[in-house]
Amino acid sequence: MNCSKCNGEAVIRIAHANLSLCSVHFIEWLEERVERTVEKYKMLEGTKRLGIAVSGGKDSTTLLHVMKKIADKKGIEILGINVDLGIDQGKLYSSKSTEMALKNFEMLGIKYRIVNLEREYGFSIDEAKRGIHRPVCSTCGLSKRYITNWVALEEGLDTVATGHNVNDNAQFIMMGYLTGDVSNLSRLRSVAPSENGLIKKIKPLFLTYEKETLTYALLKKIPFILDSCPNTFRVGGRTQDSIRRNLEEMEDKVPGYMLNLVESFERKIRPALEEKYLKKEEVGKCKICGMPTSKDRDICSFCAVRIKMKKVKSLT
Ligand code: SF4
Ligand code: ZN
Ligand code: ZN
Repeated sequence: MNCSKCNGEAVIRIAHANLSLCSVHFIEWLEERVERTVEKYKMLEGTKRLGIAVSGGKDSTTLLHVMKKIADKKGIEILGINVDLGIDQGKLYSSKSTEMALKNFEMLGIKYRIVNLEREYGFSIDEAKRGIHRPVCSTCGLSKRYITNWVALEEGLDTVATGHNVNDNAQFIMMGYLTGDVSNLSRLRSVAPSENGLIKKIKPLFLTYEKETLTYALLKKIPFILDSCPNTFRVGGRTQDSIRRNLEEMEDKVPGYMLNLVESFERKIRPALEEKYLKKEEVGKCKICGMPTSKDRDICSFCAVRIKMKKVKSLT
């Protein structure tokens, strides 16, 4: 297999773009592709200080490296954000992930904030998984969103970027179609504007495949954690796993299948859903932390979890 650009030896076949690329041309292609996505969706418009949420996996570390180049061109300052969640303490999953994030921040000379959930908020995800009746991924997602937003506000960031790729988005869309949860579906956006005390969020890898972020990370020798979170298969159990596999099988048969699904959703379906289903909720302020909460609640969901965990821990 030869590179479509220089005829050298290709390292990857990108069937959806009908290209085979060598290492040099693939790195160049991916960086340009992410930059084009950023421009197309006006992701960095009005941004002076950009936060990048880095878990330590292949997607977020690739995102950090590519966005550093884009931000440097535009004179945008970057802050890396990592949350040490306390997952699988026995096998040190979270501490290893944080170590990888840190390696990348230092390697690129990027300023960063690492927040240890247990030290700063009194509980770990392992403890929440055992202690409260709430799906572990829901508590984990809530904690990540809350802490990232908190750090962004404290640090005066305009925008935060996350590493969701085409495969994640396609899976989310199919799951939404299957369950009919249109309100949740209407929240899948390449750019979520800043509103109600929540910082603007962007997904620069929105149109980049998982295989492409993995190849980029390997070719660039980026340090990242290869293991998946041990709770991954709890997110949606077998259904979620089957959807992911079905999507990958379809992609093999019809190159660009996932990309089309995501692009057409963003272009046509999401705006229609948003108009009808995206709830413009009135928000109040959490009595404990001052962060936004729904109008009918005194305290935000994260503070509610913290209080529950405090009770659980005092009883053990
Ligand atoms: Fe958190 Fe669940 Fe993702 Fe693991 S799989 S990092 S517990 S959201
Ligand atoms: Zn080449
Ligand atoms: Zn609160």
